[in-house]
Amino acid sequence: MTRRKFIAGNWKMNMTSAGARTLAGGVRERLANFDRADVALCPPFPYLALVGEVIKGSSIAVGAQNVYPESQGAFTGEVNAEMLADVGCRYVIVGHSERRTILGEKDELLNRKVRHSLAHGLHVIFCVGETLEQREANQTESMLDNQLTWGLREIPADQIPNLVIAYEPVWAIGTGRNATAEQAQQAHVFIRWRFSQLYGSEAAQRLVIQYGGSVKPENAAELMRQPDVDGALVGGASLKVDSFVAIVQAAGG
Ligand code: PEP
Repeated sequence: MTRRKFIAGNWKMNMTSAGARTLAGGVRERLANFDRADVALCPPFPYLALVGEVIKGSSIAVGAQNVYPESQGAFTGEVNAEMLADVGCRYVIVGHSERRTILGEKDELLNRKVRHSLAHGLHVIFCVGETLEQREANQTESMLDNQLTWGLREIPADQIPNLVIAYEPVWAIGTGRNATAEQAQQAHVFIRWRFSQLYGSEAAQRLVIQYGGSVKPENAAELMRQPDVDGALVGGASLKVDSFVAIVQAAGG
C-alpha cells in the first residue's frame, strides 16, 4: 500500500504575528504547485486564525499544538477541540514529549485528549518515543508499546483514519542528533505491528507514521525513503521557509 507522505511543522512557542504571516506566506508561495505530500503548519494558539487566513485556498492545513478535553466551562487558560475546529484547525498534536515532561501530561490525560479531539472531527498527531536512557536499556519497544496501548485506548473504529502517529525519540528532539534511517524504520515497523494488534492490519497498513527529531533538509530524503516512514514532524527546521520547503520537497520524492 502506498501511503501519502505528511509533513507537519511544529512551531512550538516561537514567532510573532508578523513572523507567522511571513513564514506561512512564504511556505504557501513556494509550495503553490506542489501536490506530492500533505502539509500542515502548527503555530501557537494566538496565530492559528492568522495562519489559517494566510493559507486559505491552498492545500496546506493548520494544526494546533495542544487541546484540553472538556466542553466549555471553567477551565481557565485551556482551549478545546470545538474551538480549534472553529478557527480552522484540521490537526492537533497530542503527547509531544515536551508536554509529557515539562507539563507532566500522563497517558490517561493524553488518551482523553485523543478521544475528545477525534470525536470533534480533528485529526490527531499522537507522539510517542523513548528517552536515551530507555533506548540504552533496551526498553524502546516496551516504552512505545506502553504509550500506544494507553494513549490509544477505546478509539471508535470509524475515527481511526483520522489518527497519525509521530515517532519522536526524545534524544533526537531539538538536539541536532537525528535517529538513523535504520533506527527510525525499525521503530516504525514496531509501531505499525503494535497498531495492527490494537486496530487490525488494514488500519495499520493505512496508518501514517511520521518521524520527528532533528529532521533537516540534509537528512530528510534518506529518512523518507524508508518504507514505513510516512513523513515528518519538524520542529526547528519548520521555522524557516527554505528548510521547511526543502523537507516537504524531499518527502515528495
Ligand atoms: C518536534 O518538536 O516535534 C521536533 C521533532 O523538534 P526538532 O525537529 O527541532 O527536533
